[in-house]
Amino acid sequence: MMSSSPPDPNNCFDPRIGLIPVAQAEQALLEQVIPITDTEVVSLPDAVGRVLADPVASTINVPPHANSAMDGYAVHGASLPSSGVREFKVVGTAFAGKPWAHRCQPDEAVQVMTGAMMPQGTDTVVIQEDIRLENEIAVVSAGHKSGQNVRQAGEDLQRDQIAVEAGVWVGAAELGVLASVGVGRVKVIKKPIVAVFSTGDELKNAGEHLPPGAIYDSNRYTLIGLLQRTGLEILNLGIIPDDPVLTKKALSDASEKADLIITSGGVSTGSADFVIHALEELGEISLWRIAIRPGRPFAFGKIKDKLFFGLPGNPVAVMVTFYRLVQPSIRRLMGQSDLNPVPVVKARAITRFRKKPNRSEVYRAILSQDDNGDPVVASTGQQGSGLLSSMSIANCFVLLDDLDTTANPGDMVDVQLFDGLN
Ligand code: AMP
Ligand code: MG
Repeated sequence: MMSSSPPDPNNCFDPRIGLIPVAQAEQALLEQVIPITDTEVVSLPDAVGRVLADPVASTINVPPHANSAMDGYAVHGASLPSSGVREFKVVGTAFAGKPWAHRCQPDEAVQVMTGAMMPQGTDTVVIQEDIRLENEIAVVSAGHKSGQNVRQAGEDLQRDQIAVEAGVWVGAAELGVLASVGVGRVKVIKKPIVAVFSTGDELKNAGEHLPPGAIYDSNRYTLIGLLQRTGLEILNLGIIPDDPVLTKKALSDASEKADLIITSGGVSTGSADFVIHALEELGEISLWRIAIRPGRPFAFGKIKDKLFFGLPGNPVAVMVTFYRLVQPSIRRLMGQSDLNPVPVVKARAITRFRKKPNRSEVYRAILSQDDNGDPVVASTGQQGSGLLSSMSIANCFVLLDDLDTTANPGDMVDVQLFDGLN
């Protein structure tokens, strides 16, 4: 792949270039991803977590008819008194789903429940607390506005308006919007298949006996946990021992079945790190020196058209590289048009966040509120990249990107929350 030409700082595959900033690495990875275009039609409940293949336009107005936003009395707005009171004869009742089928005259009122279709001749609802009822007469005083308390037809979505665009990942809100326009089935992008395995002679499965020198494999579980949120198919391929033949066979098998392969461990240059060699024989691979901590070593490669991400062995580095480098690529592979990066917000540091120049530092931290309700953020403490329990204690990352220096208490820092509402 390399020639005697000078190192190209824009080519992340050129091993002679120095540390690559994370954002540049993310961009370079995205350029390698070809989105899946195969589609399938699924029934609405199964569309959650999937990416829409075609835009869905509404064939109806939502809501389909003007309706009352409150329990009260529907009247003709022009009849409302500007001073004093006005009496309306109550001529009927409309319920949600049970319209009142006649025309209401200017001096009449119809009792309406929330969601009831507005009776003909009415355009305004006076809430029931503001009405004095005397026999069959509703007495309304001044101070009401014509048109109040009514939801107009099409005020949420108009007929022919796009309800959900193609390339959108369907979450709870999108699922509801699709249901509100009445579509029962939608065309979505086929699920990518992602193979996951761990490498290392020291690894044992949870539930097994732990001999001296061994540890339990946690990376595969964090990765499965991360992937399960995304709406793709996971192939859990277990643990591969540090053995060149078995590693090559595992990777080759995975590339037959999966669109994307994620491994952890075995991508350093130590004598037991066989993943790089196996990839060299099966396809292409490069070890990236990404300017992020934790997050090294990180390898990216391909076996034919299948993508390979070789994550570090250290458990926290696995999660950090997944969020910053793998997740955007998976979203593109799934056909998402907007990669939905988690927003970065500012909070005041209440502990020190140490930082070396020229690399991104990702801290596990806890975001909370001070006595004034302002956001403040504290480090979880020790930041060793093997301390997975600190990820569980944390609720956010503090991101100190390339040019920042150490942040001291009182400084504003960038924070990215682990869990948003969607
Ligand atoms: P490696 O990159 O394979 O040299 O691994 C770096 C460190 O991460 C070593 O201490 C490994 O024991 C540890 N490690 C590797 N894979 C896993 C795993 N699946 N679960 C927990 N720790 C791991
Ligand atoms: Mg290893």
